[in-house]
Amino acid sequence: MLAHLRFPVARTMGRAHPEPGHPYRNPFQRDRDRVVHSRAFRRLEAKTQVFATGLSDHFRNRLTHTIEVSQIARTLAGVLGLDDDLTEALALAHDIGHPPFAHAGEQELNLQMARFGDRFDHNFHALRIVESFEQRYARFPGLNLTFEVREGMVKHSRDFAPGEYPEADRFLPGLRPPLEAQLIDLADEIAYNTADLDDAFSAGILNAEDVARAVPEYQAIYEAVEAEFPAATGRQRFHEGLRPLIDSLVSGVIEGTVSRARQASAETWSDVRTFPARLAGFTPEAAATSRALKRLLHQRVYDSALLGEDRSRSMAMIGELFQWFMDHPDRLPEPYQQTGRDEAPHRVVCDYIAGMTDGFFRRVYEQQIGPPVIPRC
Ligand code: MG
Repeated sequence: MLAHLRFPVARTMGRAHPEPGHPYRNPFQRDRDRVVHSRAFRRLEAKTQVFATGLSDHFRNRLTHTIEVSQIARTLAGVLGLDDDLTEALALAHDIGHPPFAHAGEQELNLQMARFGDRFDHNFHALRIVESFEQRYARFPGLNLTFEVREGMVKHSRDFAPGEYPEADRFLPGLRPPLEAQLIDLADEIAYNTADLDDAFSAGILNAEDVARAVPEYQAIYEAVEAEFPAATGRQRFHEGLRPLIDSLVSGVIEGTVSRARQASAETWSDVRTFPARLAGFTPEAAATSRALKRLLHQRVYDSALLGEDRSRSMAMIGELFQWFMDHPDRLPEPYQQTGRDEAPHRVVCDYIAGMTDGFFRRVYEQQIGPPVIPRC
């Protein structure tokens, strides 16, 4: 459908450290494989997505969420005729900069950094991981990913003007990323909205009727499911409704993106870059459904007492450990003490904590400070 807008791998701006080509994998395929083999990718398994592990082994963690995003993004890229290797590499990398304890972790690290006139941003942290922290190659630091993959990572959820983020000025500020990169944010949104509904249903904090009341599109789907499967269990009916909901959101991105590309008269991949807005997007109907889902999830899940308590506890512990290492830099692992000679101390502490999994954070907290006041189950 949009194969004429596909980013041609032969036009990549390449790697920071030139490398010989591979006999049968192109640069984007190699990037995808490098992400999968990185330590940061494996740590996703032990990072909370929304629901902390402990209550159930069936909740998404950040790794299974990433696989769902990748599956949706590759479907989108395949149908639209875009480069599915570039899409997959970006989908697999999209969350590797996330700190422990999901958004609570990100929020608290940002608060701590603000005390020093600085900030924490998981997309820029991901860039630091793939450009510096991963140590696997003798010739260069990081994974030496292609320009387009790194650009897509820093432009995951927003574009920026020249000078707006000095650390990102190398990545064509003022221009849009390739269409493949634009799909990731939308695939992410479809994946987390629908998966969070599923996990909330499993946690017993909402049911299909709640969703039907809040999301008109789901109501229509669910009425048809009830009529077709009157004898099915609640769980079966819930899933019979969830699948068409995912389908309709994915179709909404396909139709929305094709129609915006047509309206913009985009003819080549470079028109995608120079167009003043992103061309990938939902149809207005799918956008309304996505907004309704978000509203419901905020009211019933993200801002619920169940998650709120967990969030405040996690934020308090991150704040405490951050201050602890600011006061005791000699307790940081040796490599961090070394980087502390060139970097501001708050940045070093932030990098150390941001790289932790939930479990590793708790171990370090306990070793340094002692058992948390309210022990987790
Ligand atoms: Mg995500």
